[in-house]
Amino acid sequence: MKHFPIFVALEGRRVVLSGGGDAALAKLRLLLKTEAAIHVYAKAPAPEIVTWADEARLTLHRRTLAAGDCEGATLFYAADEDATEDARTAALATAEGALVNIVDNLSDSQFITPAIVDRDPVTVAIGTEGAAPVLARAIKADLEARLPAHLGLLARIGKAFRHAVDVLPMGRRRRDYWADYYFRQGPRALEQGGPDAVRRTLATLLDDYKTREDRAGHVAFVGAGPGDPELLTLKARRALDEADVVIHDRLVTPEILELARREAVLVDAGKEGFGPSMTQDEINRLIVAHAETGAQVVRLKGGDPTVFGRLDEEIDAVTEAGITYHVVPGITAASASVAAIGQSLTSRGRNSSVRFLTGHDTRGFADHDWAALARPGEVAAIYMGKKSARFIQGRLIMHGADRATPVTVIENATRPDQRVLSTTLDALPADLTAAGLTGPALTFYGLAPRAAQAALIQTKQEFA
Ligand code: SAH
Repeated sequence: MKHFPIFVALEGRRVVLSGGGDAALAKLRLLLKTEAAIHVYAKAPAPEIVTWADEARLTLHRRTLAAGDCEGATLFYAADEDATEDARTAALATAEGALVNIVDNLSDSQFITPAIVDRDPVTVAIGTEGAAPVLARAIKADLEARLPAHLGLLARIGKAFRHAVDVLPMGRRRRDYWADYYFRQGPRALEQGGPDAVRRTLATLLDDYKTREDRAGHVAFVGAGPGDPELLTLKARRALDEADVVIHDRLVTPEILELARREAVLVDAGKEGFGPSMTQDEINRLIVAHAETGAQVVRLKGGDPTVFGRLDEEIDAVTEAGITYHVVPGITAASASVAAIGQSLTSRGRNSSVRFLTGHDTRGFADHDWAALARPGEVAAIYMGKKSARFIQGRLIMHGADRATPVTVIENATRPDQRVLSTTLDALPADLTAAGLTGPALTFYGLAPRAAQAALIQTKQEFA
């Protein structure tokens, strides 16, 4: 981050702008939203600027900027759209202590003006450090559409009420009160009865919250999907939005953790590398301990929480402690991986069932019905199968599996560093070692990537 976003107090402060053309107009339109004392220096000002001066919204000086004009100014805009003149005025302003912006000259500017979504007093500033103005405009348009026009009015009315709400205990109860106001009761009251109804609602809602019991702790077991944040469900997003504590495992990507409520405490329950990772018992105790303080706990698990996630043990711990819970499903690695290779988990005429297997469980390499799997046309999604590749290969071949059965390994499915390794049962262990995969990887037994499989079928026909 080369530019740090801040909100500068401009009420009654002097803001100076040199220039009277289009660039000046664009900046002035933004500056006029503030309560700054705006001074414009322009020999030939655009008609809009003259009108604003007549309306006393700014002070117009029909001359070029001179020494002393920026004395005591907080901000200065060089907007003459002429490099030499901009350099001259910027130097004067800098010497007189103002923070300087030169329009369309990022490198010589001390600050830049963001794209703004205005719901005064709620203001969203969007900056891309000059890298992508198109992106900033698109984000602005998106937010304009998303933030209701009455948000500013609700915030202004709410602000006057802030001190009254001090009677509620700090923390969750107060937060719930405001969330209820902004997102449910406030908009409804405004629609039905205007600002007076909103004020009445603030008061009745407060009476209601004063006598309300604190919300009990609760645990949401949430599927974070395979890694791409866009593959989160809306329910998962909401749970992250409302979380007081997020206890996540190693598979959850930083991009997804970014979406947790800013005040939420993040706990990494899958830390590896530095010392031993947390035991399941420790994780169970941690979840319960947080929920017992009344927290809304999100237990965030990669993929779907019900697939190789030790969910049952955690639910048992939570219910034994008398804590309520709910489960939010997610997209499991098998679904994400099969999508990555253009295949289908089940296919008419090929496989009418699919198995989800784990390469190893808590006791070591996991045993399965190898004879059933070894039959032609079977498909299995093997989770945690990297270390056990040789073991699985041995068992399958021993039970009569064809060595040429396609096997596909998808590493980091849906993430920017996704890789696909297309091989056969015969070559699996050697190819895996050669590929040196380091991320989570799912192994499909009996499935090849669509294009390669088509090529394979073609070759067979040619040979036949
Ligand atoms: N609950 C998870 C699975 C947990 S077990 C789910 O539903 O996906 C962990 C295993 O899942 C990893 O060893 C790997 O085999 C698989 N896995 C998880 N995320 C993956 C990803 N993005 N790409 C490939 N495999 C993944």
